[in-house]
Amino acid sequence: MRADVLRVYTHPACLRHDTGPGHAERPERLTAVVEALGASFATLAWRDAPPASRGQLLRVHDARLLDEVLETHPAARIALDPDTVLSPHSAEAALRAAGAAVAAVDAVLGGEALRAFCAVRPPGHHATAGTAMGFCLFNNIAVAARHALDARGLERVAVVDFDVHHGNGTQAIFEHDPRVLFASSHQWPLYPGTGARNETGAGNIVNAPLPPDANGAAFRAAWRERLLPAVDAFRPQLLLVSAGFDAHARDPLAQLRLQADDYAWITAELVALADRHCGGRIVSSLEGGYDLVALAESSVAHLRALGAA
Ligand SMILES: [Zn+2]
Repeated sequence: MRADVLRVYTHPACLRHDTGPGHAERPERLTAVVEALGASFATLAWRDAPPASRGQLLRVHDARLLDEVLETHPAARIALDPDTVLSPHSAEAALRAAGAAVAAVDAVLGGEALRAFCAVRPPGHHATAGTAMGFCLFNNIAVAARHALDARGLERVAVVDFDVHHGNGTQAIFEHDPRVLFASSHQWPLYPGTGARNETGAGNIVNAPLPPDANGAAFRAAWRERLLPAVDAFRPQLLLVSAGFDAHARDPLAQLRLQADDYAWITAELVALADRHCGGRIVSSLEGGYDLVALAESSVAHLRALGAA
């Protein structure tokens, strides 16, 4: 059987995580991505995201957080913090968002697909081992990384994060786990306030903070000069991507000035890096991106560079 070039995991349950009126992280984001990908590419292999298992989540998260997200069963929306909402259907969305990344890892490592993209919400990179925060319930990409290491036997996994916000949760989860390299560009200062250059973990954390109004040239320079060489030197056996598109100039939550073309560029660089070290294997998962036009065109640029046609 011929492997899929690019598999896309999503699930309707991810649309039923209801953050409430006026919330930036809204179901329309995922609809915009799925519709844009469907309209742009004929060759995507779409799959329903399975739910993550409790055991898969426990590789990253405390049992207390699992109980908070999965066992609260709220009758109406409740706020876990000022940004982060748990609604009646959030538990299944969170399970499918994390499960997508796990299934994508299995598909890529099993040779069923060369690369995979997870079109899911809620996003994940702010969630720490014990705390849901910043629109994130479970840390989807961290659950995927631990699955690749602990269940699939890999020794080195890189997580790259170009969301405009720093992936504080991913950093905190892996800062004492040198099997994972975490490389992030982000606006600083900005929520959540972490991500300084001198946060280096066990030598496995590389941050490139960018000032407000930084444009695509500054973004590309940070990756070319600081982040990509670190990932290259790490020689990952699998490349995971926290793909947030909120560094786009149109995004309402931040002040960077990227265009869709910049996402095509970084993705092409990541594909070249994956080709050098890990047989091209990449799993990318949607994080932020809050302008629907920018989100649609940036995700299309990302997937085209990942091999969608
Ligand atoms: Zn973000």
